Formats: sequence, structure tokens, C-alpha cells
Amino acid sequence: MSEIIFLPNEDITPKETSQFAPCSSCQCYRPPRAHHCKRCGRCILRKDHHCIWLGTCIGFRNHKYFILLLYYQSLFLLLILFEIAIRLLQIKSKYIIIYIVFLILTIPESIFVFALCVFYTWLLSINMTSLERVKYPKQVPFIVNLIESL
Ligand SMILES: [Zn+2]
Ligand SMILES: [Zn+2]
Repeated sequence: MSEIIFLPNEDITPKETSQFAPCSSCQCYRPPRAHHCKRCGRCILRKDHHCIWLGTCIGFRNHKYFILLLYYQSLFLLLILFEIAIRLLQIKSKYIIIYIVFLILTIPESIFVFALCVFYTWLLSINMTSLERVKYPKQVPFIVNLIESL
């Protein structure tokens, strides 16, 4: 059963990538905004990055779920920080050291995930992937509505 893939409109595609180009690695003609992944061994449409935590490429088909994962993880970490803060204010015993250790372990992860959340929300607002941001550092070639980029 074949699947229909809707490609981005021509007017939001930069001129130098508006044609199908042959991939030097897998020898297929890749559509605009597709990049080859050496780990997956194939071209990925609108590739963002190869995620070592999820074990797959983040691209056109799963970009939305990756962003949602970041949002849910940020929300979860906020709840954990809030819970630890409440416990620290309530408990005055020898177990307080456990919550201080939890807090020390949670804060760096929270900062990392919140920063990723802000970064990917900003990329989403300009309809770019992190790979394209590296490739076009001073350009914003794919301006579309934030809702449409999901
Ligand atoms: Zn390829
Ligand atoms: Zn990959």
C-alpha cells in the first residue's frame, strides 16, 4: 500500500534546493529538504537529526512527535521540580538530603531540556530543521505559519 507524501510548496523552497538532486551515497533522487543519514543508510525527508536516544532519524514523519516529547518532558520535569520544592519545605528530618540530591540531579537535566524546547520551538516558528539551520546560518528560507509547520 503506497502512502501519499505532501512535499512543501515550491515558493518556500530555496532556489538551490528546488530540484530533485541525486544522492551521492544511496544513488536515489532525493526531494528538496531531504538529507542522507549515514546511520540509517537512506535519505530522510526534512531530516532534523539522527537521534541516538530514540535510535532513528527525526524527519518529516516524526518531527511533530519529537517536539511533543520535548514539551511533555519539560512539563514532567517542572512537576518533579515543584514536588521536590514542596517536599523540601515540608520535611525537616535526616531524609532531606535525599531530596537535595534529587534536586541536584534534576536541575541540569531540566535546563538542558528547557533549552532544547525553546530552541526547537524557535526553529518550528521559522519552519527550519536544526540541520538546515547549520546549513543556512544567516537565512530564514522557509517562512510559513507556525501551525502549518507541524
Ligand atoms: Zn541518500
Ligand atoms: Zn538516521
